[in-house]
Amino acid sequence: MPKTLPIRILGDAILRKKLNEADHNDPFLKSFLPDLIHTMYERDGVGLAANQVGVDLRIFVIDPWWSREGEEREPQVMINPSIDKLEGEQLGEEGCISLPDLFANVPRALKIDYSYTSPDGTRVQASAEGYEAVVIQHEYDHLDGVVFTDRISTLAKLKLKRRLKEMEAEAKDGVNIRVYEDE
Ligand SMILES: [Zn+2]
Repeated sequence: MPKTLPIRILGDAILRKKLNEADHNDPFLKSFLPDLIHTMYERDGVGLAANQVGVDLRIFVIDPWWSREGEEREPQVMINPSIDKLEGEQLGEEGCISLPDLFANVPRALKIDYSYTSPDGTRVQASAEGYEAVVIQHEYDHLDGVVFTDRISTLAKLKLKRRLKEMEAEAKDGVNIRVYEDE
């Protein structure tokens, strides 16, 4: 049975780290990937990056549509992804499992070309637009130590400043972990 992993909250040093390349054959991934996917759904997320659960590897999972009516769960794991082309602009509200109860409008590219290694080792090239492109850009940022509030306007950031500082102040020795029970 996959388990719900503790979540790293803003203030935790691993959320600010450029993560290491992963090896799709790494035996650790056999248990880690199901846990990562399970944790994303348990936290009602549409994406979750490895460092959000304390793992220093360039891996994330997304499932942009699963919570919509009539949609099945369809998790997509991306190992060592790259965003190869950005086009256009869009602005939409984002939140993050690592920044609980915080939301802001974030400018993103409208369309992206991207590639990644899937868990079976295949290198996949794909493109996305709209909401799916937002989810991929948000998760990709995590792998470089970037969170969505780094990309919002100065004014928007000013409004969130107190909350961000409070969150960061909860960290002890660079660690800020929140443990959730399975729902
Ligand atoms: Zn996030």
